[in-house]
Amino acid sequence: MGTAASPFLNPTADRPSGVGYKPTAEALSRRAYQRRQIQGLIGGSYIVDSAILLVYAHAGTTSAIIGPAFAVCGLISITGYILLSEAGFTERFKDHYCVVPQSIISMIIMLAFTYIAPEVGVMFLCTLFVVFAFSSLRSTPWQTAVVWTAMALGLAGLFLLTDKPISLPHGNYLERFATMTVFILTVGRCMFIGIFSSAMRDSLYKSGLALKEANKRIEELAELDDLTGSFNRRCIMRFLDDEVARADRVSAPCSIALIDLDWFKRINDTYGHPTGDEVLRTFAITVFANIRAVDRFGRYGGEEFLLVLPDTAIETAARMLDRLRTIVADLDWSAFAPGMQVTVSAGVAVLKANETSDIFLARADSALYKAKAQGRNRIVTT
Ligand code: GH3
Ligand code: MG
Ligand code: MG
Repeated sequence: MGTAASPFLNPTADRPSGVGYKPTAEALSRRAYQRRQIQGLIGGSYIVDSAILLVYAHAGTTSAIIGPAFAVCGLISITGYILLSEAGFTERFKDHYCVVPQSIISMIIMLAFTYIAPEVGVMFLCTLFVVFAFSSLRSTPWQTAVVWTAMALGLAGLFLLTDKPISLPHGNYLERFATMTVFILTVGRCMFIGIFSSAMRDSLYKSGLALKEANKRIEELAELDDLTGSFNRRCIMRFLDDEVARADRVSAPCSIALIDLDWFKRINDTYGHPTGDEVLRTFAITVFANIRAVDRFGRYGGEEFLLVLPDTAIETAARMLDRLRTIVADLDWSAFAPGMQVTVSAGVAVLKANETSDIFLARADSALYKAKAQGRNRIVTT
């Protein structure tokens, strides 16, 4: 019947939607293996039931031919299905297990044998019950309704249109033993179905958790800049808006710094674009290593970055930025290319009362402009 995560138990597990979806060869062989497993299980049930029918025959309840005939009919239906499955025919259908046709064939067998051997009818009717429960595990509500209607019509025909004396044999010890076995097996099979459906619930719950994790990761990736690993523009702007709102609400100071690499075009032109990328990456790592956990650092665009410093007065922010500036200037950039020098300039601003984030940012930008105009490799506060 498969494992806890068996796709048999999950109608949607191996049915990816999407136009033109083609399962891989590996997926196809896994499905074929699962179908063989299920057919093996059904075949085993037919053989066990035939053995019980032989016990009934031994007890004199029914003819000795019923047991073997039942096994042969069941095994023929299974062999037919396996041949179609191995030929790839069942793969044409959305539900490659073909649960509905298989269930209807099994029902026809059960109803036909109840008609032929009503003296042991209880056994076929119990099996009919198990077939229905098993098929509804994989079926859609619509398919379940179809199978249920077919079963109801079959039973109506059997009970209302014939006067067959459908029996529950219990006349002698052997009959009582066989009938008891039928009930024990039926309850056992229902328990099996229950266990597998709870395993399915468990597996769906776990898949749900894994999906949640994956979504979180996707969101994280969508927030980060590919090259530097800092927040992307959209995200750092959101942080800025949130921080401006929070600082206003709690009347806390909030500083920001717009940091721009000096003469970066020259670095690209002299050492090449890939080296320029490495410089940006190294700069970002340097910043991350020198800011607090509460600070937010993101790429504003190109070689320009925004640093949001919550609960920070302008003097502290200026000191922090100047320290950062010195660290960058003192790094051994010649490891990238002989003679390379990298410096940064920054415009630092502190939030004023009732200021919007746009105006706040514009002030930091004009401070940065001044830092550039005054010769670069410096911090200007506003
Ligand atoms: P300034 O000191 O006035 O800021 O001069 P600058 O050369 O740094 O400024 P400019 O705006 O003239 O040039 C910025 C350069 O940054 C140009 C652009 O090609 C480069 N750049 C932007 N994004 C990237 C990137 O992702 N990788 C690399 N390697 N270069 C980039
Ligand atoms: Mg620049
Ligand atoms: Mg720039």
